[in-house]
Amino acid sequence: MEKSLLRKLPKVDDLLKNEKIAPFFITMPREKVTDAIRTVTNLKRAQILNGEISTLCDEDIVNEILATLSVSNRKSLRPVINATGVVLHTNLGRANLSQSARDAVNSVISNYSTLEYDPQAGSRGSRHVHVEKVIQKILGVEACMVVNNNASATMLSMAAMGRGKEMIVSRGELVEIGGSFRIPDVMKESQATLVEVGTTNKTRAADYRKAITENTAAIIKVHTSNYKIIGFTEEATLGELRTLCDEVNLPLIYDMGSGLMLDLHEYGVDEPNVKDAIKSGADIVLFSGDKLLGGPQAGIIVGKKEYIDRMKAHPLARVVRIDKMTIAALEATFNEYYNEETAKKNIPVLKMITMSMEEMEKKALLLKEKIDRIGVFETAVEETTGVVGGGSAPSSVLKSMAVSITGGGFTSEKVEKLLRKGDLPIVARIKDEKVLFDIRTVFDNELDLISDKLREIAGK
Ligand SMILES: *Cc1c(COP(=O)(O)O)cnc(C)c1O
Repeated sequence: MEKSLLRKLPKVDDLLKNEKIAPFFITMPREKVTDAIRTVTNLKRAQILNGEISTLCDEDIVNEILATLSVSNRKSLRPVINATGVVLHTNLGRANLSQSARDAVNSVISNYSTLEYDPQAGSRGSRHVHVEKVIQKILGVEACMVVNNNASATMLSMAAMGRGKEMIVSRGELVEIGGSFRIPDVMKESQATLVEVGTTNKTRAADYRKAITENTAAIIKVHTSNYKIIGFTEEATLGELRTLCDEVNLPLIYDMGSGLMLDLHEYGVDEPNVKDAIKSGADIVLFSGDKLLGGPQAGIIVGKKEYIDRMKAHPLARVVRIDKMTIAALEATFNEYYNEETAKKNIPVLKMITMSMEEMEKKALLLKEKIDRIGVFETAVEETTGVVGGGSAPSSVLKSMAVSITGGGFTSEKVEKLLRKGDLPIVARIKDEKVLFDIRTVFDNELDLISDKLREIAGK
């Protein structure tokens, strides 16, 4: 019985010639195709020997090979639809870029560029100038430098300003930034000595003052961007620390995390912004490019030229050097900020955060209608709450709109799983046994893709 079934198993050579499989040789390496065939035939052989199957159908085998091929053809890093409502989802790539930033990246990667070449002078230029001018203009700062991410910005500024010396930081600001990376550990790698002052919930300017010695190189303030201590708390403000630093002639560094450029309080975002931080008198301000700034992954360092020149000359500057795609995207992103109103329209992160409830409801109704046309699921449009995410604005709750679905003979867990397992994963939430598509983070052109996938899941 097993033997006769084993003999019926199609030969690899025959499968290679199969009219549905052969075309894959044009688009895929031969090895990948034979691997897929072997994977499926080996599986079948094992199932026969284990007595798990008693019949074989050639067409099913070919279909299984085709499915294996399409999975192995998938890129590992590929787009997903974010229906979680979390605007800056670190696992889903944080900020998506504006059209102008995407165009800028495209043009520098398809051509040679002025990356480190000054065409006016005909001589070597600096990769920092491309963002320096626009950042100086918009933020009114003396100097700036961009590096790979904000963690590198923290390490570089400490290494350049405090190596072998002491830097004072509040115990209430020793943040873990996610993925179990902790700011104090990054700081220690700079070879500056961290002097922790105050307690978890209370640190006053006097605590910093007491810790100052002749070996102190700077005071660092870290915005606790991914958590908030509430209740019996106190922290020294930037203004108080500025006064202290002026008295003792020390620089003040402020790691603010999110890089918010506009005041978004009216939209429920309770975060400090870069302009206010500079006005409050920090000598050096550090922030991420891909959080609320809405650009590419980067660390942006702005402030006094004397310190930033030291950072540019430090050996670590080369280690954390930013690449041309990022510079192109950053220059274009900052250019959007010449006009705050168009920035809110053109930068996706800002557009999503400032989206009105009416606009979201309209979009939600559109998606509901498309899903209703499948005729399988029970749907509703409901108010929900989202968050900014990405370790930004922990106490800000964004009122949002979602489409919920149930029914169709599936559990919500099953639907959620099928949604994310395709070529284009759709990441949705489950709440009260319903699958929820939060509309804030879903682009208009993705509504059809969601309803198409649900149609496929429903088998319609
Ligand atoms: C997010 C964050 C960082 C790390 O920034 P990356 O750009 O992710 O490296 C550092 N400090 C603070 C306060 C942050 O919020």
